[in-house]
Amino acid sequence: SEILRRAFELMTARGEQIAELMVRENGKALADARGEVAYAAEFFRWYAEEAVRIAGDVRTAPSGNNRIVVLRQPIGISLLITPWNFPAAMATRKIGPALAAGCTVILKPASETPLTALALAEVLAEAGVPAGVVNVLPSRRSGAVAQAVLADPRVRKLSFTGSTEVGRTLLKVAADQVVSCSMELGGNAPLVVLEDADLDVAVDGAMVAKMRNGGEACTAANRMYVHRSIATQFTERLARRMAAVTTGPGLSGAALGPLVNAEAVEKVHELVQDAAGRGARVLVGGRPGDGPGYFYPATVLADVPAGARILDEEIFGPVAPVVVFDDDEEAVRLANDTEYGLVAYVFTRDLARGLRVAEALDCGMVGLNRGVVSDPAAPFGGTKQSGLGREGGHEGLLEYTESKYVAVDW
Ligand code: NAP
Repeated sequence: SEILRRAFELMTARGEQIAELMVRENGKALADARGEVAYAAEFFRWYAEEAVRIAGDVRTAPSGNNRIVVLRQPIGISLLITPWNFPAAMATRKIGPALAAGCTVILKPASETPLTALALAEVLAEAGVPAGVVNVLPSRRSGAVAQAVLADPRVRKLSFTGSTEVGRTLLKVAADQVVSCSMELGGNAPLVVLEDADLDVAVDGAMVAKMRNGGEACTAANRMYVHRSIATQFTERLARRMAAVTTGPGLSGAALGPLVNAEAVEKVHELVQDAAGRGARVLVGGRPGDGPGYFYPATVLADVPAGARILDEEIFGPVAPVVVFDDDEEAVRLANDTEYGLVAYVFTRDLARGLRVAEALDCGMVGLNRGVVSDPAAPFGGTKQSGLGREGGHEGLLEYTESKYVAVDW
């Protein structure tokens, strides 16, 4: 607990340096990087407080003859594999609970962002983590490294954050040694604006849900479903806000940095062109920048027709496709029409109606009148092909424990 608390303090004190490093590695805007450092450090603080609250259980068997004692023990050596989009937070969200539970870890960062992971390892070492407890293993040969680590029977846990495709592969590899898996995979978040929504709140929420981290987030609003009666108003307001987003190098103070690499720009543009080719109207943006760098401007697409690839595939960029619906049932059906189930956003002034829609949405998290759900104290994770297990909150800690039942007769 005390080591994690020191790690929180050291990371916070070094926040500016780590944020700049992240911008240089991954391109994100400095404001996003600062936000990530604060969010990432919070996992150390939260799990510093959870580390001393791992409770067991004592029950009496129904027969009355014996006691059932349940211990929570550390699961064992854990392999942590993280993506490039949140290079600090995805690592601390795993390291924090693993250490709190008493596990040693091997962190394999994304090859785009190894330096942030190494900076975190320095923070942890200075905070007092003993040598050998947190190991960072950068490699461009991710598949081979993961296979070798998972083949060792001492490794009992795999916690992976990344694409659904790689998640599926890793689940198969982990099956050989029957390793416990937590999987935080891709998302395709719907954002539903009901006709009674407060439009100021809905547009603010849509901007955050779409533009946090430049749209390169598993939680990014990918599909905006808006009730027909307010669709024009909502779309015009959103387009005005998106048109005002400044694009430039991450450290320049621009609100939107470059995407992570050339392939990312190509993929985003391909999805926009496919939608436009099927009849979607490009209201703002829609073309990569002319100069050097992997820039793609904030883009709004209206009247996106069913069948457009952009409604099925993760965009991972600053593009907001808007689709119109006529009633709550249709909105829920459209929102659930995806293999993913990470997060959804709902905007309405009627709390009961919002909760009814939230219950009907097939996903692990719902933002109700909010464009952000991430919180170290909350269970983060998805249903369907968005993953298995939860990170954050007390649930996130339990993923690194194994329960042991002792039958006692005293
Ligand atoms: P990715 O390609 O799946 O890579 C994620 C990590 O897996 C990287 O460290 C990568 O290493 C490694 N990797 C790739 N192939 C592997 C293999 N065969 N065996 C073992 N490890 C392998 O994902 P990404 O492009 O970095 O990240 C974007 C994805 O992450 C999106 O789909 C996004 O939705 C998802 N994501 C989900 C969450 C969540 O909480 N649900 C949060 C953030 C991101 P290399 O870099 O060396 O390839």
